[in-house]
Amino acid sequence: MEKIKMTTPLVEMDGDEMTRILWKMIKDELLLPYIDLKTEYYDLGLEYRNETNDQVTLDSAEATKKYGVAVKCATITPNAARMTEYNLKEMWKSPNGTIRAALDGTVFRAPIIVKGIEPCVRNWEKPITLARHAYGDVYKNTEIKVPGAGKAELVFTAEDGTEIRETIHQFTGAGILQGIHNTDKSITSFAKACFNYALDTKQDLWFATKDTISKKYDHNFKDIFQDIYEKEYAEKFTAAGIEYFYTLIDDAVARVMKAKGGFIWACKNYDGDVMSDMVSSAFGSLAMMTSVLVSPDGVYEYEAAHGTVQRHYYKHLKGEETSTNSVATIFAWTGALRKRGELDGIKELMTFADKLEKATIQTIEAGKMTKDLALITSLKEVTVLNSENFIKAVRETFDKL
Ligand code: NAP
Ligand code: MG
Repeated sequence: MEKIKMTTPLVEMDGDEMTRILWKMIKDELLLPYIDLKTEYYDLGLEYRNETNDQVTLDSAEATKKYGVAVKCATITPNAARMTEYNLKEMWKSPNGTIRAALDGTVFRAPIIVKGIEPCVRNWEKPITLARHAYGDVYKNTEIKVPGAGKAELVFTAEDGTEIRETIHQFTGAGILQGIHNTDKSITSFAKACFNYALDTKQDLWFATKDTISKKYDHNFKDIFQDIYEKEYAEKFTAAGIEYFYTLIDDAVARVMKAKGGFIWACKNYDGDVMSDMVSSAFGSLAMMTSVLVSPDGVYEYEAAHGTVQRHYYKHLKGEETSTNSVATIFAWTGALRKRGELDGIKELMTFADKLEKATIQTIEAGKMTKDLALITSLKEVTVLNSENFIKAVRETFDKL
């Protein structure tokens, strides 16, 4: 069989620990035998990030802007323990944070649904994709612990010196204060990324805030979304047969619990932080969650939602067998390959991605899975496979397809 040819390289960002091991196995077993794989390789493993003073991360982000599609392996975000473990020159920033800042993106997370791993919420039949705004609000706050009686004011000073001043509260005793902000630019990027992703995946888009209470702050989010929708997206949504729908956050939460799924839920930063953990754990497992960063000008970076699975890696280093789930990493590759195929008009690449996803799901539905899933499945006949044999089982299913 002739290998599938690619025209534009994918930006390949290698990573750390157990996921770096899975990365190579996936390439060797599931990709290289079938595709004349064209990638521009960046080693984001912590050692090389340290060696290059993290320049490699910045370079990989620039390459992503240039080519439009990247696939990323999980990476270590250094903490104090990693400083000594890897003898680091500096506590390098989170690569995901660096890439997100460079691409000005929004992160979309969606569960991979298989029969036998049922969501805790009975009526969720289709995935719910969570889109989290990743800038500002309480994550960039300024706080004061008020010691006693006094007046708190909110002051804005324009560049020409004019002031806007509002009294927050006349304190009669001790209390607390918090200042938060967001920018129209960031909210606009967030809105566009959500609308584009909805069109891309042909799913309805829900957005909710607390605009009835926060009449300026949250209302600004609502207005920007509505304005962009009407000017740039309404017709495209109608043509695609999908809907944009705004409601109050309390109403959204209630509706999500009763819904069947199959839509994108856009959330402000804090709502997205809290709700993405609820949605992902209710769907079963972090190892079955994909994540894609989409920039407002349509650049895509695909990855798994989980980390480098450090505990398994240490077992692997000791020569012990591991049963680490590679599904989310396989789907990061298929997502990126499908997008590359779509942009370059290579049908075979898109079909390949669809088939590999189907093979992965069918393998699990046939009872062959890693330990994490075996613990939560409702299937009766289960074969627990190690990391390598699961990937080999997927290849067998794929070859049959
Ligand atoms: P983690 O790698 O997500 O793993 C936490 C635990 O979840 C594992 O010990 C394992 O549980 C289970 N798990 C996660 N993924 C799994 C998989 N694919 N298959 C089977 N089980 C899986 O989180 P962490 O241990 O907190 O973080 C490790 C490193 O990852 C850190 O250095 C962190 O900075 C980094 N990280 C990177 C990213 C990213 O690059 N996107 C995201 C998060 C964390 P059991 O041990 O019980 O089997
Ligand atoms: Mg969280």
